[in-house]
Amino acid sequence: AQQRVPLIAGNWKMNKDHLEAVTLVQQVAWQLGDADHDPERVEVAVFPPFTDLRSVQTLVSGDRLDLAYGAQDLSPESSGAFTGDVSGQFLARLGCRYVIVGHSERRTIHGEDDALVARKVAAAVEHGVIPVLCVGEGLDVRQAGRHVEHTLAQLDAALADLTVEHISQIVVAYEPVWAIGTGEVASAADAQQMCAALRQRIEELTNAETADTVRLLYGGSVKSSSAPELLAQQDVDGALVGGASLDADEFVRIVQFDT
Ligand code: PEP
Repeated sequence: AQQRVPLIAGNWKMNKDHLEAVTLVQQVAWQLGDADHDPERVEVAVFPPFTDLRSVQTLVSGDRLDLAYGAQDLSPESSGAFTGDVSGQFLARLGCRYVIVGHSERRTIHGEDDALVARKVAAAVEHGVIPVLCVGEGLDVRQAGRHVEHTLAQLDAALADLTVEHISQIVVAYEPVWAIGTGEVASAADAQQMCAALRQRIEELTNAETADTVRLLYGGSVKSSSAPELLAQQDVDGALVGGASLDADEFVRIVQFDT
């Protein structure tokens, strides 16, 4: 992963209102500052709820913080009669660098299928927001030994309508569903095996150069204790962190995984 800048991404899920977001972002930024964090060595991004994005934007741009931010979802549509949805165009206007797409909680709780995820990935790219595409198998699939096949099928479906140029811009997060919010982290070997398979498939869909630049994250109960080994794997270029991203101390310790 040497030539790819690792990305540590904090998915806040439905936690922290817009006032609490200000506190957490400041705590993260101050601690990164205290630690002399170098954003060219490790990129850090936070993914607060939609209602917090304006506060986060004001803080980040006002204080010129080296912190990227993004949303947790977007509409496949750009504008119109889609009550309750949020356009990628609006996210771009708010300075979002990233947007999470296809998180397992959206796939399960909101019934998002591969076709919808593909449209959302395409919408993000169209609006210049980098999709962080989440893929990964449930426990039943892993126990049946079909986890690689399942996860690669999700990747194929999500990228079906993208050009090579578009694929070169995305981030993919391997998040085994059985490891999300359960405290049960995948082994570093499992994370590496899947990320290597994902990179191989990206190469088949594009070319070696593109596959070499796309960042692949691992997500699922990452903590500062497990991050160093996971992130030392050749094809693991970062982490998507849920629960642990709500604690500034712990999140910044994860960012400092290699110190
Ligand atoms: C997530 O929500 O993407 C996630 C990985 O959560 P957690 O770290 O809490 O398992």
